[in-house]
Amino acid sequence: MTRRVLESLTQCKVVLRTGVGYDVIDVEAATEQGIAVINIPDLWTREVANQAMSLLLALNRRVVNLHSDIRSSTWTPRPPYDVGSLHGETIGILGLGRIGSAMAQRAKGFELNVIAYDPYISDEVFAERGVTRVSFDEMMSQSDYISLHTPLTDETRHIINENALRLMKPNAYLINTSRGPVVEEAALIKALQEGWLAGAGLDVLEKEPPASDNPLLSMDNVVLSPHSGHTSVLSLQLRTGRYGEEVAAVLDGRMPRNLVNPQVREHLHLV
Ligand code: NAD
Repeated sequence: MTRRVLESLTQCKVVLRTGVGYDVIDVEAATEQGIAVINIPDLWTREVANQAMSLLLALNRRVVNLHSDIRSSTWTPRPPYDVGSLHGETIGILGLGRIGSAMAQRAKGFELNVIAYDPYISDEVFAERGVTRVSFDEMMSQSDYISLHTPLTDETRHIINENALRLMKPNAYLINTSRGPVVEEAALIKALQEGWLAGAGLDVLEKEPPASDNPLLSMDNVVLSPHSGHTSVLSLQLRTGRYGEEVAAVLDGRMPRNLVNPQVREHLHLV
């Protein structure tokens, strides 16, 4: 939803982002037009954290490689891959918000040491969640797994660039369930090809769906899913009703649950 699109919607009162990340909406332009922007941040927190943990476990236990081996008639109970032990290793979480915190909780269940970088979260919240606050560089260099949970903003676009990837341990894995452009994909491909890190688990890519010649598609140390982290039978059931409720609230002059641009509240007389 660009400025051009929003400016042409002269009767429009509300734009609903049917997910969490509203990077696809020009919120400033919507605010100038007096259009409410709503997102749905809370319906799939556990699903996305579960997806991140699934990618981590698939990489750690080499699930996809073993599955492929069996399908090509190779049964190797002692596989020729490094299969991890997980407990006692360190996971670094970028963005300790809803999904990052749910990921931290899951990681602790697997006996991982959890560190995180999030400059917008207080020390009290870090302490409450039992997570150690570290700098960005410390997180990149100390972690055996790095899981990304920031929104896509000007600040986070390509935050995982070549410099950041070069800080990672060569045995470390990168998990991204946030937004593709948080990672500079060309640098990630180079890092994987040159072995600066061990592998990646990606639910999101810079271009979705990816081009058929994207090298990530043929690397056997990469596990992919098609931006499906938010999906579950339950989240699919709940979402349509919730979309209707949120839009109806604005049209009825009531506050929706998550108004991204509260500046329009007065203009739209939302109570
Ligand atoms: P959230 O707003 O609760 O948490 C985001 C956290 O990132 C916040 O704590 C914020 O302080 C932190 N952050 C912002 N800028 C940062 C920076 N420069 N460095 C470090 N931390 C920073 O959001 P959430 O509900 O946890 O969702 C996170 C993101 O996950 C969404 O914005 C969306 O892009 C993505 N997402 C993906 C899927 C999927 O299907 N894969 C589904 C839902 C959400």
